[in-house]
Amino acid sequence: MIDINRKLGFPAKKVALVTFWVETFGCQMNKSRSEHLAYLLEEEGFFPAKGSEEADILVFNTCAVREHAAERAINIINKVAQERKDKNPHSIVVVCGCLGQLEKEKLLEKGKEIDVLAGTHNWEEIPLLIKKAWQGKVKIADFKEEPPPVFQEKGYWHSNPISAYLPITFGCDNFCSYCVVPYTTGRERSKPPEIIKEELTSLVGEGFREVTLLGQNVNSYGRDRGKERGFEELLLDIEKWLGGKKVWIRFLTSHPRDFREGIVEIVKSSSLLCPYFHLPLQAGSDKILQLMRRGYSREDYLNKISFIRQSIPEARIGTDIIVGFPGETESDFWETLEVVEEARFDVAYTYIYSPRPGTAAYLLEDDVPLEEKKRRLYILNDALRNIYQEKLPSLRGKIVEVLVDQKEGNLVSGKTANNLRVYLPEPSLEVGEWEEVILASGEGNKIYGSVRR
Ligand code: SF4
Repeated sequence: MIDINRKLGFPAKKVALVTFWVETFGCQMNKSRSEHLAYLLEEEGFFPAKGSEEADILVFNTCAVREHAAERAINIINKVAQERKDKNPHSIVVVCGCLGQLEKEKLLEKGKEIDVLAGTHNWEEIPLLIKKAWQGKVKIADFKEEPPPVFQEKGYWHSNPISAYLPITFGCDNFCSYCVVPYTTGRERSKPPEIIKEELTSLVGEGFREVTLLGQNVNSYGRDRGKERGFEELLLDIEKWLGGKKVWIRFLTSHPRDFREGIVEIVKSSSLLCPYFHLPLQAGSDKILQLMRRGYSREDYLNKISFIRQSIPEARIGTDIIVGFPGETESDFWETLEVVEEARFDVAYTYIYSPRPGTAAYLLEDDVPLEEKKRRLYILNDALRNIYQEKLPSLRGKIVEVLVDQKEGNLVSGKTANNLRVYLPEPSLEVGEWEEVILASGEGNKIYGSVRR
């Protein structure tokens, strides 16, 4: 969960009015949607609270990707909402996002403290729904089955003073067999380039040091507008719009099927685009990849990894992997481990398969016992950890540029362009500064460095 209210320097006097707080569950896309909702709430005349315990309006932006997410979220929401209402009986509790869209009946039945329940397609109306619930002292549930016809989302409250998200697509057309996202967010819609230009140049003008372009599959940007290579065109446009400016542009998430060599070539010759590629593998066995409907083979995937490694040796590659998908045998799992060994990932998020109602995989027998899923996850994480540890010595002595983005007491850290977090024992450094850093030893999972002077 993140809090949206970390934006620095909002006037303290504002907090005396009707205040809001947004709690976010789930992915970066959801964090960005919370930032948009915070913007809409502020436009409607509400003010950011200093903390959830002070908010008059408490919003939960939910995630539906994992099984039991509904139960867990309802428990958390009911508990926090009850505490809030004990203190302030007039407070309003709002639940929105993917869980709202997918499991509305369950939320309506069990979410006793919820005053406003909304889905994913009526975001722009949430401030009005809150006002109605507030003024009429009534509970409101409001949903739309289809997303808005035009790309409406404009304006974000940025929870980080130097780093911003910029969604470039919404929804997803892929229908991977295990995933609820296409059902909760609708078909893929690409933000028009002129809006991206306006938003991006304004973020850079405001002093943001890095911007992450977001989408469920950024590589298919523009396809709904008839452009097969719209993402490459967008990256080249960004080069033109921001040429000469000191800013880092990242993008998340790439889909291995749609990830093309041209994207790597553009990143390679750019000083703005960061050489970090997040390519979710999900599984290393062709049989499981087919059951997952991922649209690529193990060989396709490894060829793309090899192309990145050869073209940009300093690039870092991240991935997501699921273990225990229906039908995954021990030998399928070992094929995943083989791909992991060959790809030598720098970053990995690993999960146990979680059946989601409404998806194609839900109809398959969930035949890998939970204990076995846990064992596979343990082995996988161990392999990933070993690879990471083996890479550490080669980093020592390297000179890299680091953008300082976190400072808590004496602990300062930042990221390199290729998405390596580096800890710097230099409390005088300020957030937002770029520093030339000499990498030192790694300790556990942490990499340390010192500023080159
Ligand atoms: S690409 Fe697949 S896994 Fe990713 S959001 Fe779309 S359907 Fe889900």
